[in-house]
Amino acid sequence: MNPYSEIIKSQLDFFNTNATKDTNFRIKQLKKLIKVLKDNEDLLDEAIYKDFKKSSFENYETELSLVYHEINLAIKKLKSWSKRKSVRTNMANMPGKSYIIAEPLGVTLTIGAWNYPYQLAFAPVVAAISAGNTAILKPSELSLNSSNAMAKIINENFDSNYFHVIEGGIEETTNLLKLKFDKIFYTGSTNVGKIIMKAAAEHLTPVTLELGGKSPSIVFKDANIKITAQRLVWAKFLNGGQTCVAPDYILAEKGVKAKLIEEIKTQIKNIYGGNPMDSDAFVRIISPRHYNRLVDLIDSKKVIIGGDSNKEELYISPTVLDNISFEDDIMQEEIFGPILPIIEFEDLSWAIKMIKERPKPLALYIFSSSNKSINRILHEVSFGGGGVNEAIMHLANSNLPFGGVGESGMGNYHGKAGFDSFTHYKSILSKSTVVELPIKYPPYSDWKRSVMEKLIE
Ligand code: NAD
Repeated sequence: MNPYSEIIKSQLDFFNTNATKDTNFRIKQLKKLIKVLKDNEDLLDEAIYKDFKKSSFENYETELSLVYHEINLAIKKLKSWSKRKSVRTNMANMPGKSYIIAEPLGVTLTIGAWNYPYQLAFAPVVAAISAGNTAILKPSELSLNSSNAMAKIINENFDSNYFHVIEGGIEETTNLLKLKFDKIFYTGSTNVGKIIMKAAAEHLTPVTLELGGKSPSIVFKDANIKITAQRLVWAKFLNGGQTCVAPDYILAEKGVKAKLIEEIKTQIKNIYGGNPMDSDAFVRIISPRHYNRLVDLIDSKKVIIGGDSNKEELYISPTVLDNISFEDDIMQEEIFGPILPIIEFEDLSWAIKMIKERPKPLALYIFSSSNKSINRILHEVSFGGGGVNEAIMHLANSNLPFGGVGESGMGNYHGKAGFDSFTHYKSILSKSTVVELPIKYPPYSDWKRSVMEKLIE
């Protein structure tokens, strides 16, 4: 017997009462969720600090504020998002009316990643709830304290047949995945994404996969180098580099590299001080396993900034590597840590070719003042989303659907896109019974065919 059969069945039974179809019910639950989170901010702060020394400011800036925004937006908009929408009826179906009903999918499973444990868990759940579903949340076991905190505050405040947190690692997730859900929303690595999709295929469950990959930043000579360096340093070293949309590496146009490196050095000092280990803004690596992997990726001969590490503290300083080529080890996998390799390019066609030969990135950033270069890259390269003269911040605009493409994921969320990913749009044609044209019925004839051509084509 699967340990989770009963709870999933209880959520399905609750969903089938139709209680969640009432938009006022959903708004009430979202209001309750924001209150519960705000009332427990201290607990959430303490837990995430224990996990990887993330400060209260950063917990608000990069996790809770985004969740609060998603909740408040959904409270404001979900009635209009849920409204039945009329569309034009075509000639062949006259006289009649056509409309689309936004229908919740049912029982949903959200599987979170550890690097932004609250944001990546709650933002999809907010979308699930606002679309009228029930929710099971499985946070990552790697950010264990944050997972415990979420389980405590959600399970104490919500009925388990509506919204429940199930904690655990691979074994628990594997058991959950054996059961039938109406939607699975997964955030994490591309490899595990394949496991999730295979398991979902057994039940033909739709999935949204928010995965990872190497996100390039292309810096041109004509960019504002001071601002570029400042934005890149913040985006790369935020959360200790453990951000899915962090700039993974820089492609610097020939002639700009030396100046860029100098500015990056200055900006690291401005943001984290002379010794980043003492900065309360510099987050630690999540586990000894991740720490060892990252330290192994640092080729000491190529370090031009930083390169320091402390195993006891799981600390790796903001590190920049120069003279890197696409053949180096650091270019073979997503870095997901505070190490920034720089590759020089002379010819944009070559840079574009190198990016396109690799899996489609989750994000791509262009730093330039030339619309020609910017538009060429936007036109030629496929990637999840990104920025022009900015990095990471596109995910903080809920009007921009957030998600990957190809190996970096499928489907998207944030704002209305999140609501859509947990909704089935049910299309209805409602026909008048006043008349019935004989066109579609046998016996077939030439005149029926010619009327059909006029009506349909
Ligand atoms: P992960 O895939 O190891 O873990 C994510 C979740 O999957 C966890 O809840 C974990 O318990 C579960 N899991 C792990 N192994 C499993 C297995 N064999 N079977 C079933 N479930 C399993 O990912 P991670 O290390 O937490 O995150 C790192 C990756 O996630 C990076 O590639 C990063 O880019 C990506 N990421 C993407 C986004 C995004 O929004 N696109 C956000 C954050 C992280």
